[in-house]
Amino acid sequence: RPLLEVKDLTAVIAESKQEILKGVNLVVYEGEVHAIMGKNGSGKSTFSKVLVGHPDYEVTGGSVVFKGEDLLEMEPEERSLAGLFMSFQAPVEIPGFYAYLFPKLELVNMKSDFLNRNVNEGFSGGERKRNEILQLAVLGAELAILDEIDSGLDVDAMRDVAKAVNGLLTPKNSVLMITHYLRLLEFIKPTSIHIMEDGRIVKTGDISIAKVLEKEGYKAISAS
Ligand code: ADP
Ligand code: MG
Ligand code: MG
Repeated sequence: RPLLEVKDLTAVIAESKQEILKGVNLVVYEGEVHAIMGKNGSGKSTFSKVLVGHPDYEVTGGSVVFKGEDLLEMEPEERSLAGLFMSFQAPVEIPGFYAYLFPKLELVNMKSDFLNRNVNEGFSGGERKRNEILQLAVLGAELAILDEIDSGLDVDAMRDVAKAVNGLLTPKNSVLMITHYLRLLEFIKPTSIHIMEDGRIVKTGDISIAKVLEKEGYKAISAS
């Protein structure tokens, strides 16, 4: 049974009714890593936000089944309780909770403590990204959606993030990641790579898609 099954999903911006998602299809099984790539403005972030139930968007058609249940009928809180989690754009910063501790953490036991800590300022961009990953690890998402967690990271930080993502993966947990970079995908090894174009997934393949993309640009793999 798929963990997530998205069929012909369409969605508009709530305020303007402008259609952004124009029929997205995607199936994610347990233990898989799916990457979504695509030009700026193709609808990648909108897709992520629609999945977690962001109020800026209205679903106008199609279906999303998560763990056998109708995700679109669930409140955002219910979605996260069910195990769907999206990386925070503005991550909560946790004092004393550093990425280098990652391999030593007893992740499950940390959970309640983690949630009770005060937020703090002062981490660098790279450290923030790593903290996002730690949040995911601690919250134990079954499907973690990571929207451009690699933006602004140098290669070392990217490797750390990749290591943390790989550490999250179990035969039961899946990751849906949005990225512009082949480099991250070489560290993480996705099951499938999807190209989004104008609100649809227009192409699916393996790492070779990302390689063509890096070399020749989106034109080379465009559907149009
Ligand atoms: P991507 O993540 O692929 O760069 P987005 O999903 O952020 O693309 O955006 C897709 C298109 O929808 C863009 O043209 C963007 O400007 C527009 N858009 C998305 N969300 C909103 C919003 N809340 N208000 C206005 N326009 C939006
Ligand atoms: Mg963008
Ligand atoms: Mg985006």
